[in-house]
Amino acid sequence: ATPAATMVGTTIGAQHGVLFKGGDVLERAKDVDTVVFDKTGTLTRGEMELTDVVAIRDGAAATDGGQLEPTDADPDESEVLRLAATAERGSEHPLARAIVDGAEARSIEVGDPDDFENVPGHGVRATVDGATVLVGNRKLLRDNGIDPEPAAETMTRLEREGKTAMLVGRVPADGAGELLGVVADADTVKPSARDAVTALRERGIDVMVLTGDNERTARAVAEQVGIDPENVRAEVLPEDKSEAVEAIQDEGRRAMMVGDGVNDAPALAVAYVGCAIGSGTDVAIEAADVTLMRDDPLDVVKAIRISAATLSKIK
Ligand code: ADP
Ligand code: MG
Repeated sequence: ATPAATMVGTTIGAQHGVLFKGGDVLERAKDVDTVVFDKTGTLTRGEMELTDVVAIRDGAAATDGGQLEPTDADPDESEVLRLAATAERGSEHPLARAIVDGAEARSIEVGDPDDFENVPGHGVRATVDGATVLVGNRKLLRDNGIDPEPAAETMTRLEREGKTAMLVGRVPADGAGELLGVVADADTVKPSARDAVTALRERGIDVMVLTGDNERTARAVAEQVGIDPENVRAEVLPEDKSEAVEAIQDEGRRAMMVGDGVNDAPALAVAYVGCAIGSGTDVAIEAADVTLMRDDPLDVVKAIRISAATLSKIK
């Protein structure tokens, strides 16, 4: 494109809160044939809320969860939530904050763990009341010698609802590990996410979702926004997200990766076009080719449209 065309496109973009990092990006965006959305904070609001607490007794789910009113709380449920919240106190993860806030809102006293360790992409491992407390996915529990099987049905049910279900387990200093229960957080899909997916598909662009969350939860969210189940890439560890984008591009696709988090920066960097959205972190903005000032997935469509329009009119 001529310098004049580039200037026009860049200016129009800026007026719409779409910041292109230079003329070559503006030119590339129109050739994108696949848009890969990060799930949390990109398709969803990224504002988690605690929705369920289920106690496991004698190797089976003893409560049906969902009843989080302090008045009818099962004592075992309250204890599951207290331990989970105490273990999560040291974590900055949105899943962790929802658990702590949810416990406090239910007047549960949340203490500080004696020791705390983040297990990225899996959960947390903390010392509470002299025992090791684990909160996280199936792999985290298995890796610490606890069989997640007794909670299998509960986990599946919550995940089908699109929630992120986390197991809570405890390993006493001198005993065998035990599964105590399940806690679940839910996020809400951004109001315009579905319209954005529809508009992209109308342009002939394939839409995918990439997430560290489990397959079932990711599929439930994908269904809500109109993304095909086979276009879901779930359970991808933070450090593997850029590889996942490379694998998609190795199929010959020109991918735009859209994300907001620190986790996403390497994936944004390897994408044909990296796009940081909304309240994106500085690291994400740095790694991105396009920054969307607002938090609206429809601006992804706008970016592609501006690129196509500018370069077809003025050449
Ligand atoms: P995302 O890609 O959605 O940001 P992450 O890679 O951060 O997800 O985490 C992947 C999965 O690991 C979560 O869905 C959850 O099961 C588990 N997990 C991560 N952090 C925590 C935590 N602080 N507490 C419990 N579970 C966690
Ligand atoms: Mg994330």
